[in-house]
Amino acid sequence: MGLVATSRVKSPWILHYCTGGCNGCDIEILACLTPLYDVERFGILNIGNPKHADLLVVTGPVNWKNADVLKNLYEQMPAPKMVMAVGACACGGGVFHNCYNTLGGVDKVIPVDVYVRGCAARPEAVIDGVVAALDKLAGLGRGEG
Ligand code: SF4
Repeated sequence: MGLVATSRVKSPWILHYCTGGCNGCDIEILACLTPLYDVERFGILNIGNPKHADLLVVTGPVNWKNADVLKNLYEQMPAPKMVMAVGACACGGGVFHNCYNTLGGVDKVIPVDVYVRGCAARPEAVIDGVVAALDKLAGLGRGEG
């Protein structure tokens, strides 16, 4: 694995986007940054620019208004990139399933690499999901998949 690919796996930069859930999952994701979990000590950074992101973390169901925004964010990320759907809403619509204004889970609009279940998803599950995404990213760096 080259230097750039190794750096991305060792210190992944994450873009977090909520497509419109109840924010329960967002609170759990932000808990990962608090001193209790402190994921920054592993080099995991929460950033605001899709052009610098390795992993897109999405919460909430996709609706008609933000589907294009989500797609746009994904397209701005440099390859190889990973997408993680966090929570029942992002995985398949959750409590908003079949709602008049929703399309369903994130994979209705962009490809998803890792699904983290739960309502809300626990911080431990979110961290497990990031590790799974990094494993996949490392595999891409080695030319697998
Ligand atoms: S999965 Fe549950 S906690 Fe998470 S955004 Fe949906 S309703 Fe809220």
